[in-house]
Order: sequence, then structure tokens, then C-alpha cells
Amino acid sequence: MRKNSSSKLRVKNMPRFLTLSVLSLILIVMIMMSLFFLMTKMAAAFHSQAQILQTSSANSSETNAPKSETTNNTTNENIKADPPPQVNNADPFADIKSRLRSGDTDGIKVVFLTFDDGPSDDTGELLDTLADYDIKGTFFTTLHDNDHAKNMYRRIVDEGHTLANHTSSHDYGLYDTPEAFFADVDALDQFQKKITDQDNTSHIFRFPGGSMNSNEACIQGILDRGYNYSDWNVSSGDGCADPPPSDVIAQKIIESCRQHDVSVVLSHAELKSSSREAMSIVIETLQEEGYTFLNMEADYTYPRHLEL
Ligand SMILES: [Zn+2]
Repeated sequence: MRKNSSSKLRVKNMPRFLTLSVLSLILIVMIMMSLFFLMTKMAAAFHSQAQILQTSSANSSETNAPKSETTNNTTNENIKADPPPQVNNADPFADIKSRLRSGDTDGIKVVFLTFDDGPSDDTGELLDTLADYDIKGTFFTTLHDNDHAKNMYRRIVDEGHTLANHTSSHDYGLYDTPEAFFADVDALDQFQKKITDQDNTSHIFRFPGGSMNSNEACIQGILDRGYNYSDWNVSSGDGCADPPPSDVIAQKIIESCRQHDVSVVLSHAELKSSSREAMSIVIETLQEEGYTFLNMEADYTYPRHLEL
């Protein structure tokens, strides 16, 4: 009976047990399905996020690619576009000038035409001749305070020649009193700046009579003032009262220039008509032989008769 009642109880409890089991199973399945669903969703979301990132990164590199091409193209175009003005503005004598600065002058065949003691009434004629050949020279002027001379100082600068300093007075006597000599140099420097409306001058200097007529104190003072000084290694022989005819002067200059890599020609072509006439012969002959005519710049090295 007890057994029966016990077995009845077990049978009676069976459906509840089954119900609970089934419910638990359903719950577990539902939880697992929910988890699976959640994970699937998360995976999908992650995947799509990755795709977005990939696309955006691809887009940005695409966006950048044309940009960088554009930049490159622009740069290339700039590189292509820039040379013409550079070529147009390029100094055809840049290499030669660079060699003059470095002192590498073997076989360079350069001639500096230098004209002393002007301006004069005939400076314009000499400037016209130089302009005909597109040649630039160096004018070692003294101080001439009149309207014509002032125009000539300006023309020298405006036409691309070097306006250089040869003292105001050309007085050899000033070498004995260096302070007076420097004042004479400075007076011309101020005058040149004022007349040509420049902030600065070329700072190329020639001692009256050449550096061998000067002395150590005067030379050192000139160097201290930032000048480069030049003498000459080719003389035109026109310094005398009665200079030779133009063809003789020209031949003397030409033969002497052939002896030097760098020639500095001393001429008084502003004062002597035969020297002015000689210039055309000198220029045409030496140009045909491959010589380059340049005007002086302060950072070249020049022949000096007296060096400190
Ligand atoms: Zn002189």
C-alpha cells in the first residue's frame, strides 16, 4: 500500500518533472539561440564596420591619389614652367664668373676693359661703341661735378657697366696723408651714390697711378673700407700726351691680352680719340678668338702691382 502510494506519488509527479525538464530545455535552447543570434548580429555589425572602414580608407587613398598626382603634376608643370624664365634671366657668363670667383682661371680667356679718369665729353661716344657690341666695361671715374658728367655717371650705371672709384681728385700727393686720401675716396663714393641714386657703389677701386704709387697704409685703409682694388696687366700705351694711332694701340692691346688668361686693360678711351677708335678693333678681334669681355665685380680676383 505504501509502495503503491509511493509509486502513485512518483507517477503523479512525473508530468511536473517532464514539464519542468521541457521548459528548462526550451529555456536553454532559447538562451542559446539568443546568444547565437546576438553573436551573429555582432559579427555582422563588426563586418560591416570593417567594410566601412576599408571603403573609407580606399576612398581616402583614391582621393589622395589624384591629389598627389595633381600635386606632382603641378610640381612637374612648375618644374617645366619655371625653366624658361630662369633660362631667360640666366646669366650666360655665370660659369665664367664662378671660375673668376674661385680662382680657376686657366685658359678662361676673359678681358676686362677698364677706362680711367672720366667721365669726359666723349664718354657717351665710348658708351655707344660698347653698346653696339653689347660689351660691359669698368669706369674708374674721378669727381666731375657738371651736368654732362652727371648724365654719364648715370648712363654708366643704367647701361650695366661698373661705376668704380678712382678718387675724387686723382692727387698722388694725398698718399702721404692717408686720412686726406680716404676722405677723397669717400667724397667720390658719396657723390656717385647721390648722382646715380644708389644705396651702394660697386666697391671696385683703382689707386691713381696704380697701387705701386700708393703705400701700405692707404692700401690697408681701402681694404678696410670693403673695396677690392685692381691694377692692370695690359696697357694700351695711351697715357702719354701724344698717343699712337688706333691700329697700333689696338694691336698692342690684342697681343698683350693673348698672353693672359685674365686681362685687365688700362685705357684712357674717354680722353683719347685713338683709344676710342681702337676699341672696335680690339673687341671684334678678341671676340673672334673666343675671348669674353666682362665688367668688374667686387668678389673677383684681379692683377695687383702691390699686394699686402
Ligand atoms: Zn688715373
